Amino acid sequence: MAAESLKCRECSATYPLDARYVCERCFGPLEVAYASLDGTDAESLRRRIQAGPQSIWRYADFLPLATPPAQFGRDSARLGLPAGCTPLIRADRLAERIGFDGELWVKNDAANPTHSFKDRVVSVASARAAELGFEVLACASTGNLANAVAAQAAALGLESYVFIPHDLEEQKILGTGVYGTNLVKVRGNYDDVNRLCVELSGEKEGWAFVNVNMRPYYAEGSKTISFEIAEELGWETPDRIVAPIASGSLFTKIAKGFQEWLDCGLITGSVPIMNGAQAAGCSPVATAFAAGSDVCRPVKPDTIAKSLAIGNPADGPYALDLARTTAGGIDAVTDDEIRHGIKLLAETTGVFTETAGGVTTATLAKLAERGDLVSGERVVLVITGEGLKTLDAVRGTFESYEVDPNYASFEQHVTQAVEV
Ligand SMILES: [Zn+2]
Repeated sequence: MAAESLKCRECSATYPLDARYVCERCFGPLEVAYASLDGTDAESLRRRIQAGPQSIWRYADFLPLATPPAQFGRDSARLGLPAGCTPLIRADRLAERIGFDGELWVKNDAANPTHSFKDRVVSVASARAAELGFEVLACASTGNLANAVAAQAAALGLESYVFIPHDLEEQKILGTGVYGTNLVKVRGNYDDVNRLCVELSGEKEGWAFVNVNMRPYYAEGSKTISFEIAEELGWETPDRIVAPIASGSLFTKIAKGFQEWLDCGLITGSVPIMNGAQAAGCSPVATAFAAGSDVCRPVKPDTIAKSLAIGNPADGPYALDLARTTAGGIDAVTDDEIRHGIKLLAETTGVFTETAGGVTTATLAKLAERGDLVSGERVVLVITGEGLKTLDAVRGTFESYEVDPNYASFEQHVTQAVEV
């Protein structure tokens, strides 16, 4: 399978595989189109994947690079930090706590090099940017992408510019600046940052904005989450996916990944039921879903889930369509539910997630409570980022003991306190 062209999602016009993201005819978004999979031998494809590196590059046949897939798994210097191959964890105790009598798994993408799923998309975008001869990596970020771009640029020896809203969590700022990037804090929210980067991408030749002019390649990286889930489940599909929605790109690409593997016979069945998760303080897609509308009305974000705080989601309409056609849904949860979701996941699985994972976990709990989960089905909860990035969300949510360093003090302050 090889990338063939960039194709407009609205009018199907095709373009060469260069740095562009919008259709010149209708202004629709462009997506990578691949050569037909007819006649693919699924067995040899599976063997090639299994023999590949322990990173997203084992799925090179499904990624948009010009280099022959068989070669570039070994060219690690050109590929930078290896992303992917994150654990899929059985979560029986979480299932029990939310009252779900099925098979629950957690896909922990906090286990990536900079602790979020963004390492996947940045890996693909930066590898393609290198092929196209770009020398500067850049991005508009709500935080996790900033970490990933700064780190990947450092690994590849490229210069980088990272644009973020000025009020981002300190952990994400520190975890970006450390890589020696040019860190630009923009006085505005993410949508303002994004507008600035769209403008800059038209002015700055030689700059690859991973989520602007490289967006079609970048977005393809998210498919590797579904490839891994299927492989980790023994080449089977889950019945349902619960994943967060910010721009809607991750959500729709997860389904695209399953569809591609169904098409070439690597797995059987159908695309899972897709449930999207948003924060109530920034829920344009969930609101449109509830209203039965096809249009996501832009909102001004106000939520602790800053990594999901995109008020004008580019792929919102596609996310809506996907939730509807798979008989899934899109829900929104409050900041209190998000904090509770973080604790719930941590206490029952040992996985500490950032606020976005709190959104997803709280949404799963809501689905269970409402009776939307089917008894006996297999559900995968997609956790996209690490809890250490948003420590404020858990501050004050638990108590600790303080004792003098002797037995009596321990007995008095801990044992007796516990017994009471
Ligand atoms: Zn078009």
